[in-house]
Amino acid sequence: SLCPLDQVQNHKICVCVRKRPLNKRDVRAKEVDIITVATQNCIVVHEPRQKVDLTRYLENVKFRFDYVFDSHADNDLVYRFTAQPLVQAIFEGAMVTCFAYGQTGSGKTHTMGGTCSGKSHEGSHGIYALAARDVFELIIQQRYQSLNLAVFAAYFELYASKVFDLLNGKARLHVMEDKRGQVHVVGLKEILVTDASQILSLVNAGNCNRTTGQTSMNTNSSRSHAIFQLILRPKSLHPGCPVPVHGKLSLIDLAGNERGADTASSDRQTRREGADINVSLLALKECIRAMSENQTHQPFRGSKLTLILRDSFVGERARTCMIATISPALSCCEHTLNTLRYADRVK
Ligand code: ADP
Ligand code: MG
Repeated sequence: SLCPLDQVQNHKICVCVRKRPLNKRDVRAKEVDIITVATQNCIVVHEPRQKVDLTRYLENVKFRFDYVFDSHADNDLVYRFTAQPLVQAIFEGAMVTCFAYGQTGSGKTHTMGGTCSGKSHEGSHGIYALAARDVFELIIQQRYQSLNLAVFAAYFELYASKVFDLLNGKARLHVMEDKRGQVHVVGLKEILVTDASQILSLVNAGNCNRTTGQTSMNTNSSRSHAIFQLILRPKSLHPGCPVPVHGKLSLIDLAGNERGADTASSDRQTRREGADINVSLLALKECIRAMSENQTHQPFRGSKLTLILRDSFVGERARTCMIATISPALSCCEHTLNTLRYADRVK
């Protein structure tokens, strides 16, 4: 079931866009689809110049990416071109990240968590589940067996620059840098896992600990970054002794990027959260740009998010993939253009 590597680009940085379908609520609101996937690399936004007459005043804005996924693409397909090459890379010793970036409601959690993130009972697995499946498929392959690796899972949330361990009763954690410049989330619980289904129950349990607000449209989970990690370490011959990381995959369901605009809110707390999200998303863009330009100076100190992910931005073994998710609806046009412009500048 693994996609042959030669069919997929093996870039250090991959940036793609996923358009979600219009949903029932959109249809009820008589929303119009303003997004066309022109080719597998090109997406067009039909931006209305005057909202009054759509058919006559359209301005086309075109963007190119490594891949563009149309609304009928399922999680399996998206996974094959985005995170799957990264899963293979961690067995070769890589430190990799895959981000879902976009407006609240555009499909970040659908892409990352799939059904194992909650509500619906059928439908497809998300990237967490698909990556877990492949990790346990690869670990028994002959060429990796001699590495004698064990798989650990960690799941935490970054909310207003505070770290909460989702697999340990939402314990507040602190980030520290050691003398060698390594960054540690001190006390983060890493759970030894032996099969993919175990990972799904961990994610489900972790999701119950995610920060949620009063109303469903305004959940705080859209204001926090969720970071799910699968870590490969050689099996320890001496239990209790720390074993170096062989490879690490971090899957990140980012805060809604529209929250970065909350800096004008009348509520102080909301304003601070918005400013914080802004800072982390800007720092993220800078870090990926630095990777692509092979800069020696890495701006990972720009935010807590990028500091925590330092080992996955710096060095030869770092790779990343960004999946920008967008809604097709006319009413989201502004946010969609913001998302596409951000993704466009990442690489
Ligand atoms: P976000 O996490 O970005 O706020 P969600 O993943 O929760 O957005 O998606 C919002 C709604 O749209 C959910 O009901 C989700 O199931 C649905 N959805 C998102 N992307 C898709 C898709 N590609 N195909 C079908 N439904 C989708
Ligand atoms: Mg979400």
